[in-house]
Amino acid sequence: IFQLSLPLNFLGSIYRELRQNLLDMEVLFNLQTDNAPAKDKEDAKPLALKGGSIRFENVNFGYHPDRPIFRNLSFTVPAGKKVAIVGPSGCGKSTVFRLLYRFYDPSSGRIFVDEQHIHDVQLQSLRKSIGVVPQDTPLFHSDIMHNVRYGRLDATDDEVKAAAKKASVHDTVVGLPEGYKTTVGERGLMISGGEKQRLAIARVLLKDPPILFFDEATSALDAHTETELMRSINSTLLDKARTSIFIAHRLRTVVEADLIIVLKDGQVAEQGTHEELLRLGGLYHHMWVQQASDNLSESLIES
Ligand code: ATP
Repeated sequence: IFQLSLPLNFLGSIYRELRQNLLDMEVLFNLQTDNAPAKDKEDAKPLALKGGSIRFENVNFGYHPDRPIFRNLSFTVPAGKKVAIVGPSGCGKSTVFRLLYRFYDPSSGRIFVDEQHIHDVQLQSLRKSIGVVPQDTPLFHSDIMHNVRYGRLDATDDEVKAAAKKASVHDTVVGLPEGYKTTVGERGLMISGGEKQRLAIARVLLKDPPILFFDEATSALDAHTETELMRSINSTLLDKARTSIFIAHRLRTVVEADLIIVLKDGQVAEQGTHEELLRLGGLYHHMWVQQASDNLSESLIES
């Protein structure tokens, strides 16, 4: 039995690895990437993680050569800190994630994780270290159990349920006629944007990565759902030291960040804490005042 179980285990791990690659491919398609996935260099080593610091160094990038998105972009995300990236729509906030995850490579400049050039490390090990709660969570045409388990393919049913509980989506799921066996995704049951993001949080909880990316949905969740979602992220994903990057559209979600990076015209326009940036009286201050007046008129309309 022992002799037989060894190769079976081995095959099992190859199968899981393949499935994880498939997941990456599917995420890739969802992001509508048109170039091939990055290949490992021959001498690529696995990423040696320490605290999960991230550094962009003079990064230049554009989806089309005649339309640069980043021009010599440089910034540092310190290990274990909560950092927010803000800036006008289309300035490249989500692109930061796509470069870090190596859906695309910069045309010049370098990106480091724990001072290792990501171009030189094995892609699989890089992606294993990064969890993402995307704007629009890709759900596969399958049941909810399977969809959450994608975070870690060897998770047991109980582990999936525990993650869903932490992400405050378990009660919603058990309230569905078929519970965890309910089919979602294309042609499946429609679920709300907030519920999808909670399923994504449950997925990431199973993956338990040292680096976390959260891409706030642009499609407005109502203020209550948004507050609840942020609360569940804070009490679950951020209950232990992780480097976390929040791509934020609504500034009220970034006030508590250790560092806020303001992007504009392909570069860092300003950076600091919420108080520091307000005192500076520049772009962030301007965006804050603008959003405060938008929120005020929103709440006047709601009341
Ligand atoms: P938002 O705040 O609206 O979500 P963002 O700051 O996250 O925007 P990105 O999604 O990073 O911006 O996109 C930066 C720019 O690149 C945008 O002008 C966008 O239209 C363009 N872009 C994004 N993805 C692609 C792509 N696959 N091909 C071509 N252009 C793209």
